Amino acid sequence: MALVNEHYLKLSNNYLFADIAKKVKAYQVSHPKQRVVSLGIGDVTQPLCRAVIEAMHRAVDEMAVKSSFRGYGPERGYDFLREAIVRNDYLSRGIHLDINEIFISDGAKSDTGNIQELVRWDNSIGVTDPIYPVYIDSNVMIGRAGVLKDGRWSNVTYFPCTAENNFIPQIPEQRVDMIYLCYPNNPTGTVLSKEELRKWVTYALRNDTLILFDAAYEAYIQDENIPHSIYEIKGARKCAIEFRSYSKTAGFTGVRCGYTVIPKDLTAVTLDGSKRLELNHLWDRRQSTKFNGTSYVSQRAAEAIYTPEGKKQVKETIDYYMGNACYMNGMLKKMGFTVFGGENAPYLWVKTPKGKDSWKFFEELLYGAGVVCTPGVGFGPSGEGYVRFTAFGDRDDCHEAMQRISLWQNSQ
Ligand SMILES: *Cc1c(COP(=O)(O)O)cnc(C)c1O
Repeated sequence: MALVNEHYLKLSNNYLFADIAKKVKAYQVSHPKQRVVSLGIGDVTQPLCRAVIEAMHRAVDEMAVKSSFRGYGPERGYDFLREAIVRNDYLSRGIHLDINEIFISDGAKSDTGNIQELVRWDNSIGVTDPIYPVYIDSNVMIGRAGVLKDGRWSNVTYFPCTAENNFIPQIPEQRVDMIYLCYPNNPTGTVLSKEELRKWVTYALRNDTLILFDAAYEAYIQDENIPHSIYEIKGARKCAIEFRSYSKTAGFTGVRCGYTVIPKDLTAVTLDGSKRLELNHLWDRRQSTKFNGTSYVSQRAAEAIYTPEGKKQVKETIDYYMGNACYMNGMLKKMGFTVFGGENAPYLWVKTPKGKDSWKFFEELLYGAGVVCTPGVGFGPSGEGYVRFTAFGDRDDCHEAMQRISLWQNSQ
C-alpha cells in the first residue's frame, strides 16, 4: 500500500488564480455581453522579440541536420549561454562569477521550489509577507512549514511588508536558517535599496543563514541605485543563492528558460557540525539526477537576448510594460487610490478604499467595472487590504480598465 505524503494535505486547495477564474466565470455567466478586462494574472502579453525568434529558427534548423543535431545537453546548461550570463548580467556590474556557478534551468519557479531539497527538513524558514506562494508551498510539501493557523504557518517567520513600514521588511531578532527575498517584489512591486539589502546580508553572515534571492524582475529596475543582484553586496557570495528568469525579462513564460547562481563560497554545515559542504556541488548532484537540461532551442533563444539587437528589443518591450505601469499609477492616484510599486517593477499594489478586505474589493471591481485584479491576501496575511494590478496587459486594455474604474467611481 502506498501512503500519501500527508504534508500535501495541509496545502490550501484553493489555488489563488483558480479561485479568481471561478469568480470571473460566474460574473461572465450573469453578464454575457460585458468584456472582462484582466489586470490579474502575472503573465506577459507581448510576443517574443525578433532577435529571439531568429535565433530559435536557426536552432531548429540545426536540429534538422545530422551534423548539427543536438541530443541531451549538459545538465548545467550550454557554455555559450553561461558565458553570456557571466559577461552581461554580472561582469558588467563588477561581479565576477565562474560559469560553473551558473545553472541553466527551465525557469525560476522550479528552481525556487526545488532548492529547499538541499537542506534538512527541520531548518526554519523566513519570508517577506506578502510573497510569491511557491516559496512557502514547496516547504509545506516537505513538512518544513509546520501547521497552518489563522493564515500563518507555525514554522515560518513572516516579515510583514505594508504601507506602515514603507514595504521595508524588518530584520528578525531571532535566528532563521533560510530566508526568501524577492526584489523587485512580486506582488507589491516595491524594491530594496542597497543599504537595506546589505542589512540582510550582514544578518545572514552573522547567523549562518542561507538567503534565497529571487531576482526575476531585475530587468524592470529603472532607478540606477537599486541593486539588480544580491552579489552587488560584499559577502553575499558566502550566504546567498540568486534566481533569475527570462520569463518576465524577455517574455519566455511559454519558452521556459532561467538560471540559478550558486557561488562556490556558499556552504552549509552538516548536522554534527563537523563539515561544511558546497551547495554548488549538492545542487549539481541534484540536477544531474533529476533534471535533463533546458532545450537547446530555448538556450539559443536566451543567448540572443544578450546580442546588441536583442538587448535593444527586449528593452522596448520592458519600456512598453513600464509605460503601462506609469500610466495606471498616475490614473489610479488621480482617482484617489493609494498606490505603491510600479516604478521599478511591473506591478502596482493598491490599497483598498475604506479598509475593505481584498476579496470584497475584488468582487466590487469585477461587478462594478468588469476589471479583474488579484486580491492581495492571496499572497499572504499582510496582503489583506490590498490588491495587485499587473502592467503586463495591452496598452489599450490598460486605458479601457482605467476608464471603466473612473466611471464606476463617479457613479458611486
Ligand atoms: C514569474 C515569477 C518567476 C518566474 O517563473 P518562471 O518559472 O521562470 O516562469 C519567479 N519568481 C517570481 C516571484 C515570479 O513572479
